[in-house]
Amino acid sequence: MRPFIDLKAQYVNIKEEILKCINEILESSHYILGENVKRFEEEVKTYLGVKEAVGVASGTDALHLALRSLNIGKGDEVITTPFTFFATIEAIVYVGAKPVFVDIEEETYNIDPHKIEEKITPNTKAIIAVHIFGCPANMEKINEIAKKYGLKVIEDAAQAFGAKIKDRKIGSLADIGCFSFYPSKNLGCFGDGGIIVTNSIDLAEKIRILRNHGSPGRYIHDTIGLNSRLDEIQAGILRVKMKYIEQYNELRRKKAAIYTKFLSDVVITPKEPLNAYHVYHLYSIRSKERDIIKEMLDNYGFPSVVYYPIPMHLQGALKFLGYKEGDFPIAEAVSKEILSLPLYPELPEEEVFQISQIILRCLQKNS
Ligand SMILES: *Cc1c(COP(=O)(O)O)cnc(C)c1O
Repeated sequence: MRPFIDLKAQYVNIKEEILKCINEILESSHYILGENVKRFEEEVKTYLGVKEAVGVASGTDALHLALRSLNIGKGDEVITTPFTFFATIEAIVYVGAKPVFVDIEEETYNIDPHKIEEKITPNTKAIIAVHIFGCPANMEKINEIAKKYGLKVIEDAAQAFGAKIKDRKIGSLADIGCFSFYPSKNLGCFGDGGIIVTNSIDLAEKIRILRNHGSPGRYIHDTIGLNSRLDEIQAGILRVKMKYIEQYNELRRKKAAIYTKFLSDVVITPKEPLNAYHVYHLYSIRSKERDIIKEMLDNYGFPSVVYYPIPMHLQGALKFLGYKEGDFPIAEAVSKEILSLPLYPELPEEEVFQISQIILRCLQKNS
């Protein structure tokens, strides 16, 4: 079986630069909150067009600290999508707030802004918009609703580094943007890492203190924080990879376009919303024959993965929220029919052709 994402293929192309950078950091023996984190934060600010960026230990911590910095906690409700990775929801529960789900759009698999208003109560404090699979959520509409009701908006941009709406980068379109640098993300390090971006100098200052044990200065602690720092080696690796992110995303888009060309008549292929630049963290097709396609690809040695088989409102850990099957019909149907095909910048085009042909033949035989 081939790998679903070949991280080695990326590494070998930039190996010299990476080893040089790691070696310099080891020689400097400055491992926490040094020059590389500072410079990486600057580079991310420039790239995304935001005023502030704070490196943290993971995407999950980014979401957690974002909610903390907005003083969201017990008694508060946070509206989000049931079709996401579990960390989005964990962060809400960590701060003691209650996740409130809203069903997704058929076209993008992102939260459906038209269904948000009916879920707003006097306790609603924020909306977390997730750009699932790298596809920009409808930020214009979400921000409009937030403004009308005085809510904060957080972008979970873990899957969408480099995505855009018009010429504005995802992550820069709300009060706070959260990114993950988990190795398989579009911009990934060689371990865990994350960053929080915002245009608010006050929020950034709060987050800087929270990520470092609630400490504004040596051995002074004004609040209970976390140990959640992006480390120097990961920041150094990310600075190398940042130089290639546009190229990586373009390569993803190119391969996605080939899949779509072959498959759009036989399965539901991903849609790119008007004015959006989708970065295809995952290339996910939707089909009633999902399980048969998956098995056929397996037989030919091509892996495919179901992201995500169980929507959040039906997860065991979240039973206490009281949701039941049938509450979010679109998210539930998508979970039963979605399948992500191999897609990474270095994926040989020949394999994109082969995978497409296997799916076409499989569906012919089945019809
Ligand atoms: C990966 C991911 C996260 C969590 O990021 P980590 O760095 O793994 O903690 C959060 N939300 C979404 C949508 C993700 O894909």
